[in-house]
Amino acid sequence: MLQDKSNEIRRNARVRPKIALVCSLILMLLFSMLFVCVGSGATGYAQTNKYVIFRDDDVAPNADFAELQAVNQVHIDKNVPVTLGIIPHPYPTPSGNQLLEVNHQFLDYMRSIDSNHLFQFAQHGNTHQNVAPSPQGPSEFYGRPYAAQYDAIKQGRNDITQAFGVTPTSFLPPFDKSDNNTLKAAKALGFTEYCTAFADFNINQGYRDGIKIDTISIELGNNSLQSMENATEQWLNNDRSTDTFIVLYHPADFRGPDGAVNTAEVKLLGDYIDYLQGTGRVQFTTLDGSWTTTGNGAVASSSSQGATTVGATDAPNVGANSGDIGGLNGGLVGSAVFVVLAAILVFSLASILTIRLGKNKNRPKR
Ligand SMILES: [Zn+2]
Repeated sequence: MLQDKSNEIRRNARVRPKIALVCSLILMLLFSMLFVCVGSGATGYAQTNKYVIFRDDDVAPNADFAELQAVNQVHIDKNVPVTLGIIPHPYPTPSGNQLLEVNHQFLDYMRSIDSNHLFQFAQHGNTHQNVAPSPQGPSEFYGRPYAAQYDAIKQGRNDITQAFGVTPTSFLPPFDKSDNNTLKAAKALGFTEYCTAFADFNINQGYRDGIKIDTISIELGNNSLQSMENATEQWLNNDRSTDTFIVLYHPADFRGPDGAVNTAEVKLLGDYIDYLQGTGRVQFTTLDGSWTTTGNGAVASSSSQGATTVGATDAPNVGANSGDIGGLNGGLVGSAVFVVLAAILVFSLASILTIRLGKNKNRPKR
C-alpha cells in the first residue's frame, strides 16, 4: 500500500510536467496561429491593396517621339508598367490605317514594345478631334449618335489590332468627355475598362452596364514633386479613397521650351516613382490589371490579357486589381506563414509523440 502510494507519487511527478509541456505546446500553437493570422492580415492590407496606374495619353504617329521613348525608358528602368492611350487616326488623311501608313519610326518602335508586359496598349478615341457642340465639348464622341460612335471606336480598335497584334480592352475617351452611347458602344465592342472624368457618369470607380469605370486622380504635367507627394499621401491616408490612383501625362508634357526633351520633367517622373516605391504601400499596375509590379525589378503578379480577377475578393466598389492581393508581398507573407505554421505543427506533434513513446516505454516497469 505504502509502496503503491509512493509509486503513484513518483509516476505523477514524472507525468505531470509532461502534461504541462503538451498543454503549453498546444497553447503555443494556438497563439502563434492567431498572431500569424492577424499579423499577415495587417501586412497584406498595408502593402497590397493600393495601386498606382500611369496613363500616357496621345500616343500616336504624330506624338513627340523622343519624349515618348524617354518616358517609356523610365518605366523600363523602374520596372513600373504604364497604360498607353493610343490615338489610331489623328490626321484627316489618309483614310486607311494611319498607324501603319504615316510614321514607320513610330510603328517600328511600338512593335518593339508591344510584347513587353510593362506597356498596356489602350485605345484613346479614334481621331481625337473635337466635334462636340459647345459648351458641352470638347469631345470626339459626346452627343453623337450611337452608330457613329460605335463605328469610330470599332475602326480605331481594328487599326490598333492590325498594326500591333494587340486588341485593346481599355477605352479612354479623348478630352475625358463622353456620354452613355460611348460607354454602350465600348461595351458592345468588347472593352472591359473605361477611364474618363467623374462628371461623365458621376462615378469615381465602379461598374456601369458591366464595364469598369475609373477616373484620373492627378496630372503629372501640372504638378511639382511636392504637390504629387502631397496628393498621394492624402489618397493613401484616406480610408475611404478608391484603391487606384491614376496619374495622367502626355508625351508632350515632356517637351522642353527649346523643342528638346525636358530632362527635368523626365526626372520628375522617375523621382515620383522612387517616392512611391519608398512608401512601401503601393503596387503599380495597368488599367486592365494585366501586369502588376512593386517596382525595383520585381514582378508582383500578372494575369493574362482580359482575364482579370474583377471583383473576385472584395466589395463591389473595389477595382479589378484587388484580385492581385496574392502578389509578391502577399505571396511572401503567405508562404512565410505556412512555413512557420508547419514548423510549429511538426514540432508540437513530434514532442507529443516523443512523450507518449516515453510513457509507453516506462509502462512495463510500473
Ligand atoms: Zn488625349
